[in-house]
Amino acid sequence: MAKELIHTIIYEYSYIWLYGLTFLYFFFLYFGIAPIFEKACLWLESKKVVHRILKKEATKRQKNVEKLHALKSIFVFGFSVLPVVYCIRTNTIVLLPDTFLNIILGVALLTIWNEIHFFVIHRIMHIPFFMKHVHKVHHKSIIPTVYSVYSFHWFEALLLSTVPITLLPFIPFSPVAVFLYPLASILLNYSGHCNYRFGTGKGTGWKLFGTRHNAHHSEFRKNYGFASNILDQLNHKISRLRQSKK
Ligand SMILES: [Zn+2]
Ligand SMILES: [Zn+2]
Repeated sequence: MAKELIHTIIYEYSYIWLYGLTFLYFFFLYFGIAPIFEKACLWLESKKVVHRILKKEATKRQKNVEKLHALKSIFVFGFSVLPVVYCIRTNTIVLLPDTFLNIILGVALLTIWNEIHFFVIHRIMHIPFFMKHVHKVHHKSIIPTVYSVYSFHWFEALLLSTVPITLLPFIPFSPVAVFLYPLASILLNYSGHCNYRFGTGKGTGWKLFGTRHNAHHSEFRKNYGFASNILDQLNHKISRLRQSKK
């Protein structure tokens, strides 16, 4: 039943329908889940499980501006399904069966690719020209909120929406993995923008996860990676090596 539905959607739905469904999916991921995530953070704070990073709260006006930019991003994200389905229909993208393992590995692989892809795009966005004309929209959120996650200039949203199409033609994935990847991605993004963290923010490892991207917003710290700082460390090492050779 589910298998037939997935097959019908991929091979028979018109591109207009596919755009509409994708738009609605991203709309739900943002407007449906963000308020729940925010409430969950407040509840976990009351139980002293998580702690607020910046004491100052974002204004209602900031959240409204973020929602408006996010709506534009969602409009752009809707288009991301079109090249993917086109490539599947023309056999440029090969699909795997939706087994449990294929789904888990697929989401994990797309999330790792997203980290590399985000690092590169984010580094480009910090070139003065793009910072001034494009990335400044995302950095308007000095105190990040769950609503900052899709608050981008449309051009940045377009670049960020190319994660699946830049990987799928080279590695086969299961359709459900591709479908679940934006959910995994937005949950990671909520964690990195919600202004809450586990513990005191000291030490190393996964507990620092929420703090790095938060600091990138509040202190303009040069953390270009999102979930991990591996690529940032690698970048520092390469630039240090280059400088020592001069
Ligand atoms: Zn940035
Ligand atoms: Zn951000």
